[in-house]
Formats: sequence, structure tokens, C-alpha cells
Amino acid sequence: MNLAFMPEKSKVDNLSLPEKSMINVKGLVKDFGKNRVIDGINATVSAGEVVVLIGASGSGKSTFLRCLNGLETLTAGEILIDNVRLESKSSSLKQIRRQVGMVFQQFNLFPHLTVLENVIEAPVHVLNQKKDIAVKAARELLTKVGLLDKQNCYPGTLSGGQGQRVAIARALAMHPKIMLFDEPTSALDPELVGEVLTVMKQLAEDGMTMVVVTHEMGFAREVADRVIFIDEGRIVEEGSPIQIFSNPQEKRTQTFLGRLS
Ligand code: ADP
Ligand code: MG
Repeated sequence: MNLAFMPEKSKVDNLSLPEKSMINVKGLVKDFGKNRVIDGINATVSAGEVVVLIGASGSGKSTFLRCLNGLETLTAGEILIDNVRLESKSSSLKQIRRQVGMVFQQFNLFPHLTVLENVIEAPVHVLNQKKDIAVKAARELLTKVGLLDKQNCYPGTLSGGQGQRVAIARALAMHPKIMLFDEPTSALDPELVGEVLTVMKQLAEDGMTMVVVTHEMGFAREVADRVIFIDEGRIVEEGSPIQIFSNPQEKRTQTFLGRLS
């Protein structure tokens, strides 16, 4: 069969189906006291899209991610996750937090639990999964992040890169629809950054919807579908990695990127 005449699957999908919006942010404002940290953000993220957020320290990136999984109350605006409005009611928040996994700079594994126990903790105690089913799924996830051989180790014996990969497996164990990453490699020694980015890249290739705050511009260039530059709580510019890195239009984006190189 001559495959050259077969249209690529993704192109067919794009023609026949409207893109499904997984995250929809409308007029988001977040104040801390008198400090306006998020100042009117509108954004949508499609299912399977990988968005990288860049911006200076203090520009509101972490606050934005925390709003997306209900860790902050919103001052104004609304957020829809898979078309469900994020409400401050606790039942709605629980639901959203299950659907939106988050990986932080400090991975905060439970030190008194083994790697496997860390990964099954939430599925067993929050989702009420049977232990043997949770263990099977956890082993598959640990295989995916390359750490099955560490399943019985305690977090204190792991390198930073291994710990962060366990943290990713732990988040995935809840079957999230979306994964948020807040500078997941910033606390790691340089030689350990690559192994974590490789796992994230694999996740992106598997079709996970991801919003990633990172200073790893190589990752952004290679993996992001879209790069968003935030300054003072506003989206200043967004576009493909090529547009943003090679041809930024806004002075503030140019200045920020200039400081990195
Ligand atoms: P970034 O992640 O881009 O570095 P953050 O979202 O962490 O930025 O912070 C943006 C601003 O919000 C900063 O001025 C920070 O001091 C402030 N801020 C963040 N969290 C809180 C909080 N819980 N209480 C008060 N101010 C906060
Ligand atoms: Mg931050």
C-alpha cells in the first residue's frame, strides 16, 4: 500500500472535528491584598496541547497555575476545566483537583512511604481503588518513568531527578486530564534535568494536555505547541515557539528573552 497518499491522521482530525477546549480562562483576576497579581488573563488550551509559560520571577506564573487547579480563590473571572466551571465549593474543587495533576519544583514525596506506596496513596485513599489494582497501575507508571527498579526504595535514597519522576508518576496515578508543571527542573542539578524533561516529552507525545512553567527554552522549542509570555500578570505575547523565540514582536518579550541568552 502506498502510504504517501494517505492523509496524516491529525490533519483529518483537524478538518473533521472542532478542537476541544480543555482549559478556558475568561477575564481572570487575582489580587493578594492590594497587589494585583493576575490582571485579566484570557486563554484557552485545547485537548492534547502543550503550552509553555515564560516570564520573569514574580510575573504571576505560579499563581496562574494555582488558579487552574483551584488552589487559589479567584478575585474575578472564571475558569472552565473540560467545560466544567471551577467553583469554590469544596465538592467541585475536589473534582477539579483530581482532573488536574500538578508537579512542583519541590516534589514533596511522603518520606516514610516507599516509591510504590507514594504512587498508590491517592488512588487508594482518594479514589478508593482496590490495592492490587492500584499497585498494578502504579508499576506501569513507574515503568513509564523508568523507575520500576526503585519501587521499594524510600524517597530519601533517590536523586532529585528520580524523585521528580516519581512525583510525575504519582500525579498520573489519578488519571488527570491535564498536567500542570511549575518549574519542575529548577531545583535539580543540571545533569538531572534531562531525565525529567524526557519523561515530560513522552507525556506530551502520548497526548496529555500540559501547561508548563519552565526556563528550559530547549524543551519549549521542541515540545511546546504554544509559548505564552506573561509580564505583570498579563499575557504580553503568545505564539508558536518559532514566533516567540525567533521573532518576538513585543519589546518586553524581546527584553526578557535577551536577558536569558
Ligand atoms: P512567578 O511564579 O511568576 O514567579 P508568582 O505567581 O509566584 O510569580 O507571584 C506573583 C506575585 O504574587 C509576587 O509578587 C508574589 O509575591 C505574589 N504572591 C504570590 N503568592 C502570594 C500569596 N500567597 N500571598 C501574597 N502574595 C503572593
Ligand atoms: Mg513561580
